[in-house]
Amino acid sequence: MTITDPPLEAMIRAAAATIAAHADELTALDQAIGDGDHGLNMKRGFDHVAAELPAILAKPLPDALKALGMALVMKVGGASGPLYGTLFMTLGREIGAAPGQAEAAAAFRAAIAAVKARGKSEEGQKTMLDVLGPVERVLTEGGDGLAARLRETARLAAEATVPMKAIRGRASFLGDRSIGHMDPGARSSQLLIEAVLEVLEQRA
Ligand code: ADP
Ligand code: MG
Repeated sequence: MTITDPPLEAMIRAAAATIAAHADELTALDQAIGDGDHGLNMKRGFDHVAAELPAILAKPLPDALKALGMALVMKVGGASGPLYGTLFMTLGREIGAAPGQAEAAAAFRAAIAAVKARGKSEEGQKTMLDVLGPVERVLTEGGDGLAARLRETARLAAEATVPMKAIRGRASFLGDRSIGHMDPGARSSQLLIEAVLEVLEQRA
């Protein structure tokens, strides 16, 4: 698998489609340990991104990713909007126009560091970082069957948030009662990663 010539349009369309298809599930997860708006927030954000697609795609990859991040900041709202916005804006700042796997991994690493700084959060606190971090490490490692391993890593990492106690975000207000539910942001991160992988696998 290479990540040269990224089919950005297909990736964004796949991301918007999976968020729309899973909006009710994300909302239900957020109803259990938050305020029940994560599905709606993410769908609003990615519907806007889909509407802005021509303007986004007119730009080179780094600027397109920055524009995507800006759109998410403006439209997703909640805690997750600025955090996903930071993720994509930093990716855009760090990545080149035609990145290989190592460059994509380095940019992803920097983007996760920016999310941690913005959220004053770390892995292990039952957030999106608990999916993003493990996926970054497998991406950095590289090797055979990478797409399948990334997919499995994201799935298991989202599952692994179920027994965690939330330390950051709204779910932390519940204390021990946050245990036993998947984190909504971890699940949305898994969905976005799967969407990107699906496009890369189709082209492999
Ligand atoms: P809100 O919590 O404001 O209603 P959302 O429901 O859209 O926002 O998003 C909630 C998700 O955001 C959580 O499930 C978690 O994954 C993520 N999140 C919240 N706070 C943080 C943080 N400080 N660092 C990382 N991720 C966070
Ligand atoms: Mg919420």
